[in-house]
Amino acid sequence: MLEKPINKPDYKLSEAEIKFNNLVCTSQWVYTKKDVDLKLVLKQIKKKIKILNKDLKPYIDSEYRCRTCGTKGRYHPVTSYCFICDTDNF
Ligand SMILES: [Zn+2]
Repeated sequence: MLEKPINKPDYKLSEAEIKFNNLVCTSQWVYTKKDVDLKLVLKQIKKKIKILNKDLKPYIDSEYRCRTCGTKGRYHPVTSYCFICDTDNF
């Protein structure tokens, strides 16, 4: 889920970020959407999460696919969110 950065209280989510959040909240298949801005938001999130998770090993359960980024069965070992995009959208 996208949130305002703590150090930037005046930061406003972009239209694409709000749309992204709404799609994730309603469990939609975000990565299959053709929207270019949406794809860019997802790309930026994946880049950020890759850095945050770099020292962690994902928990594997190939039964589910992430509806946000399309990754199959890789979870954060603590939060159980998607290891690639950090959303709870299965
Ligand atoms: Zn994902």
